[in-house]
Amino acid sequence: MTRIISKAKQSQIIKESIMTEQFKAIIVGGGIAGLATAIALRAPNRKITILEQSSLNREIGAIVSLQLNASKTVEKTWNLAKTLQDKGPMMDEGFQVYNLDGERQMRIPLSTTEKYGAERMLYHRIDLHDALKKRATSDEWPSEPAEICVSSRVTHCDCEEGVVYTQTGEMFQADLIIGADGIKSVVRGSVLGIKISALRTGHSAMIMGPARNGSVYSIVAMVPDEDMNEDASNTSWTTHGDIPKMQETFADFPEWARGPLSCISDGEVGMWQLRDIDPLPTWMKGRVIIVGDAAHAMLPTQGQGASQAIEVAEAVGAFYADIDVGKDGVTSLSLEQIKAINEKIFACRYKRATTIQRYSRQTAKPATEEGSVKVKMSPSDFMDYNCSYNGALEWARRQAEQDKVVDDIEKMRIVEREVQAEEVTIQVQP
Ligand SMILES: Cc1cc2nc3c(=O)[nH]c(=O)nc-3n(C[C@H](O)[C@H](O)[C@H](O)COP(=O)(O)OP(=O)(O)OC[C@H]3O[C@@H](n4cnc5c(N)ncnc54)[C@H](O)[C@@H]3O)c2cc1C
Repeated sequence: MTRIISKAKQSQIIKESIMTEQFKAIIVGGGIAGLATAIALRAPNRKITILEQSSLNREIGAIVSLQLNASKTVEKTWNLAKTLQDKGPMMDEGFQVYNLDGERQMRIPLSTTEKYGAERMLYHRIDLHDALKKRATSDEWPSEPAEICVSSRVTHCDCEEGVVYTQTGEMFQADLIIGADGIKSVVRGSVLGIKISALRTGHSAMIMGPARNGSVYSIVAMVPDEDMNEDASNTSWTTHGDIPKMQETFADFPEWARGPLSCISDGEVGMWQLRDIDPLPTWMKGRVIIVGDAAHAMLPTQGQGASQAIEVAEAVGAFYADIDVGKDGVTSLSLEQIKAINEKIFACRYKRATTIQRYSRQTAKPATEEGSVKVKMSPSDFMDYNCSYNGALEWARRQAEQDKVVDDIEKMRIVEREVQAEEVTIQVQP
């Protein structure tokens, strides 16, 4: 059973959130990052509440690919392999890159189990969201399920006090607050003290690709705004695109590539204006840490946005795994303890997430030179970095080893410089 709770129950939770002697986490946003963080944090003696602005019953259909760095966590660590398998996901077997004359330029096979231990999977976005929601909120799994307060729009937080305020005047208090409220995050505003707006990238996208055993097909088609033949202002996840205008946009493409565009029925084209944010100076303040698009919104050019949201969620779970609340009479974590754990999460995740954010911008650059049809970009370029990830703790160890090597090299250089300086001194002595 999925727990989505009524307003009456919500006021009870507000009181409980102040009174209970469990570790309390409030998650703002019930998207992929919020639900994944609830799963990762779920453990005995914890009360997890998700505040979601919507009623969570919108049907936004598009395909989302989970890269193996994230599908391993979802399928194996969170045991969702069977649930997701039942939804008929499709394996992403490879990329083929063609020029405008319809000639294949390269084929990059993506079967990656042998090299990296899992596959890139394509899901219907709703199927993935439903599976995560069930795993976070169902009592079929051990430990208390997370609860979702729908229609709860958060306006701001008091980061030091660990208090979240909603538009309807409610107040929730917790040991830990996770800002998972997407690219337009308000929690980010409370953390940074300034409003950071999502940046227009000049590209818009249509999404298509196979899922549900091939019974749905969705295509991602990225277009510079000025070539889109559409009004590019204010496109949200629910903005519909115009089929003839879309066909006009791709008029130069080979016939076989344009073919599927003529099979689309009215209402099946969604338009998203692609936006991202620059790397932020920090993701945390007081009892608050931001995750997912709120912290590192990135272009979908590598299909890593949701995967990075899942990676950071797993990291939150890993670094909060050993807290003592509920043991030996410990009833909550102090501000200093929360800050120390959040700093570890930030240190582990920041460089990786911002590197992938930058890679995603780089991949958005045109695949051909101006005036040429020769393709120069290779989608396989970043695979190794993206896919060689086996959870936050291992990544943190690897980073520490690399930092030590860099540190050792720097120490060696200092010693070399000192030795050289000594030799010079000895030589100049009469
Ligand atoms: C065109 C396109 C294609 C993409 N394709 C892929 C792909 O193939 N693979 C991939 O990995 N990623 C993909 N992504 C990126 C991916 O969808 C996002 O990175 C991912 O959904 C981020 O999850 P999130 O939970 O951080 O944010 P969101 O999914 O935006 O969720 C945020 C949630 O917070 C809620 N919320 C917002 N504000 C408030 C508030 N004030 N109070 C309470 N609740 C609030 C929202 O209602 C929402 O439910 C794509 C993105 C785009 C635009």
